[in-house]
Amino acid sequence: MECECGQMLNLCGVDEVDATTCMARFSCEPCGEYVGIEGERAEIAPLLPHVCWSDEAQHVLNRMPPYVVPLYRDDVERYAQTTGTKLVTFDFLGEAKNQGTVAWSAESLRRLERVPPGIRAMARIELERTALERGMTEVTVVLMEEIKARYFGMGSTQTVS
Ligand SMILES: [Zn+2]
Repeated sequence: MECECGQMLNLCGVDEVDATTCMARFSCEPCGEYVGIEGERAEIAPLLPHVCWSDEAQHVLNRMPPYVVPLYRDDVERYAQTTGTKLVTFDFLGEAKNQGTVAWSAESLRRLERVPPGIRAMARIELERTALERGMTEVTVVLMEEIKARYFGMGSTQTVS
């Protein structure tokens, strides 16, 4: 992101406006200008020069015991890298926490590989989150069938959100 004067804008922070919208705040020091860019998370994340915690996610971090913070931050940012996002939101912290704690049966993994690439990551997150909510330790084929029916059944074309 560049200012009109040609300087690179500094990223000051990101606010979560609502469940899907974020506002990234940039500044240009030489001009003393502030720029806010609002959009869907998926639109904002690519504009960020580095991994950035939203104010809401930062707030969670600030409330943790100081000795936990560096470890926790590293874990979350490593997970952000594996998922290819630069924006750490409050919801993302929940996803990061779930990471790796749910196993996949061999058959359900095979099925996941057949999910179109565009929605595979979301499907994976949704399945793991649902499994955890129910206290399951493994994503099973039965669960996959159920989720598939919920999102793609009944003639609905709604995408996973
Ligand atoms: Zn400027």
